[in-house]
Amino acid sequence: MTETISPATEPSSGSRQVLLAAPRGYCAGVDRAVITVEKALDTYGAPVYVRKQIVHNRHVVEDLQARGAIFVEELDEMPLGATVVFSAHGVSPAVHTEAAERGLKAIDATCPLVTKVHHEARRFAREGLEILLIGHAGHEEVEGTTGEAPDQITLVQSPEDVAGVELRDPTRVAWLSQTTLSVDETLQTVHRLREKFPLLMDPPSDDICYATSNRQLAIKQIAVRSDLVIVVGSANSSNSVRLVEVALESGARTAYRVDNAGEVDPAWFVGVETVGVTSGASVPEDLVQGVLDLLVQHGFPAAQEERLTEESLVFALPPELRRDLRRSVAGD
Ligand code: SF4
Repeated sequence: MTETISPATEPSSGSRQVLLAAPRGYCAGVDRAVITVEKALDTYGAPVYVRKQIVHNRHVVEDLQARGAIFVEELDEMPLGATVVFSAHGVSPAVHTEAAERGLKAIDATCPLVTKVHHEARRFAREGLEILLIGHAGHEEVEGTTGEAPDQITLVQSPEDVAGVELRDPTRVAWLSQTTLSVDETLQTVHRLREKFPLLMDPPSDDICYATSNRQLAIKQIAVRSDLVIVVGSANSSNSVRLVEVALESGARTAYRVDNAGEVDPAWFVGVETVGVTSGASVPEDLVQGVLDLLVQHGFPAAQEERLTEESLVFALPPELRRDLRRSVAGD
């Protein structure tokens, strides 16, 4: 009997496997931010303006645009009195002030774990400390945190940057970090900072968030056995880009980031037996499924998920939105 194989599907070879990292994809902060825009559209009607990309994923942004969200870079691009949602990455106090001056109805979808870093920055600044913020120049989260105490915060982008850091008083200094960095590289940076400034104070708790850490640990487990790692995530997503770096550092022969299955190059599969797959914290699961389907079409079997840990954190919606939702349910 002749076996019929769909022309789009190559037979899978017995030695091939696909390892799917878990946790992957949406974190609690991204979930909250996306639901905030959806509920704002339901409650206030379109258009709802969003300052910057609500989360760093092109597909999520396009989907919300189709529902009536308008994405802008700055507040002067929207009419006075409009409704605006601030993105998950947070904003500086100057942006809150400008929103109030322009009479905007602001809904703050900043991830509570980013807000925590803002609180730490304000507290260290009040105590008169200089703050070394480990992070990447130009990232919205770094801009927002720096805005809490611009005269006291110095950005440190890598372990190599430490040599050039100069302080007014090396005995009065603390460090903080962006939430989506490489855990290992940040530890190296802190180690070098402490060698140079022995009295360096730590933040009260880790700034790199649970979702970033979990996704990096999960891909490390898999990368060591993978010939190829595919990370689903957008180019401006810090935690997605870090996952590619972590995969390579952990032993993957090659690793690529793709926005979706359409960006996967079948040439990557030549000589590959084990493919590891994961996704950044702002990536909807259907984009990962698209990559898994493509792998099946190219002769890889169904993926086996390897779960490092369960995640159950859920954040409440922003209070200003919850209040208006209650009012709309009550018919006010
Ligand atoms: Fe919050 Fe971390 Fe998700 Fe960023 S990656 S939104 S800090 S939970």
